[in-house]
Amino acid sequence: MSALRIGVMGGSFDPIHLGHLVAASEVAHRFGLDEVIFSPTGEAYHKAEDGRAPAEARYLMTVVATAADPRFRVTRVDIDRPGPTYTVDTLADLREQFAVERPDRSIDWFFITGADALAEILQWRDVDAIFAAAHLVGVTRPGHALADPGLPQAKVSLLEVPALSISSTDIRTRVRSGAPIEYLVPSGVANLIAKYQLYGHARADRGH
Ligand code: ATP
Ligand code: MG
Repeated sequence: MSALRIGVMGGSFDPIHLGHLVAASEVAHRFGLDEVIFSPTGEAYHKAEDGRAPAEARYLMTVVATAADPRFRVTRVDIDRPGPTYTVDTLADLREQFAVERPDRSIDWFFITGADALAEILQWRDVDAIFAAAHLVGVTRPGHALADPGLPQAKVSLLEVPALSISSTDIRTRVRSGAPIEYLVPSGVANLIAKYQLYGHARADRGH
């Protein structure tokens, strides 16, 4: 039986937006992935800084955003592991989990990153171990050049995905200033931001 093909997308997802979802969907299609696992990062030591959302809220938004898509799921491995999140640990924990969950199948792992994160990969902890564990898929992101980070060609693929000029930073700024976020994030995510007053949500008059 051929190997299962599993994608992993790590991020703070603060909040998750359509740029993340389109990138994951396109990679899943182009690489024939059976599943994409979203892994929200653990709590950063500076979490209370500049109106960031707590890990549980980021997790909940990620679950709501992906719930309807049978190709997507969310893992808590990074949220539940104390200390800063390193991709090498994410991949190791997921491998361990799948060895128990799917002992019958071998797995080919794909780690999905945007062009900004890809540019930093050489500084990531244990980059050799990451490349031993997964094939890296770098996707286009407006405002960031998609360039080969200088790693083994067989280990990195660069992929054009439909360009969505959306960032979580911009969403947080919009919420703070009362600008609309509808159609930039799934409606369930916009509802959670309003319900829990994330990002200094200032709009009292949001209609439902
Ligand atoms: P922030 O502005 O807080 O850094 P972000 O929008 O960059 O948030 P992250 O959670 O940091 O979102 O990103 C997780 C992953 O998704 C990263 O690999 C990032 O490059 C990728 N990504 C984020 N936005 C896009 C987008 N619009 N198109 C393609 N990839 C994206
Ligand atoms: Mg980012």
